[in-house]
Amino acid sequence: MTAQNQAFRETICELCRLFYGFGWASGTGGGIAVRHGDTVFMAPSGVEKEKLLPEHIFELDRQGHVTKAPTQAFELTACAPLFMAAITQRNAGAVLHSHSLNVVLASALVPPGEPLRLTRMEMMKGLEGVGYFDVHEIPVIDNTAQEHELAETMAQAVRDWPRANAVIVRNHGVYIWGRDASHAKTQAECLDWLCAALVHMSAAGIDHLNYDRSEPAPAT
Ligand code: ZN
Repeated sequence: MTAQNQAFRETICELCRLFYGFGWASGTGGGIAVRHGDTVFMAPSGVEKEKLLPEHIFELDRQGHVTKAPTQAFELTACAPLFMAAITQRNAGAVLHSHSLNVVLASALVPPGEPLRLTRMEMMKGLEGVGYFDVHEIPVIDNTAQEHELAETMAQAVRDWPRANAVIVRNHGVYIWGRDASHAKTQAECLDWLCAALVHMSAAGIDHLNYDRSEPAPAT
């Protein structure tokens, strides 16, 4: 194994420990894929993410075929086709799957068939290509009994919402990506914060999209 490949494997383990601490990957949930060139590194399925070691990581090619599997009896994550959707369609350098409770609660506020909408929140500026005055939309798809069954609707949502770099799965979590592991991490942190804000506003009876902010709209 090259030193560089080892470094990508260590990055995944480090992020898994961090996300476990955030509550995004408890109970073996969540997952991470990091791409370096044409090699995709993925955390395995059904393991305690906070205990992951570099030798537990899978390597795949850009077509999603496993090129290197861990020696122990680990399974490739069921998230693999979903990670590959963002890598193939958006050239993502890293894709995170979080079970963030804030995202799950915010998804419950979104009517069926509609995207999650955000506007006029400072943390929106942390999301790739998004400004404070934008009405930013993130697709919300319905959950399925098995994670891999989400692949088709996720791929469709990625195609249908070219300005979003995330797909929320209702009552489940989110797939979110960036150009590399650090970028994907900050995207996930911003979305988590924004969803927490929406949930708190809703609980306080505030309509996030329509309340009077007493601030001028930008000249158009
Ligand atoms: Zn999941």
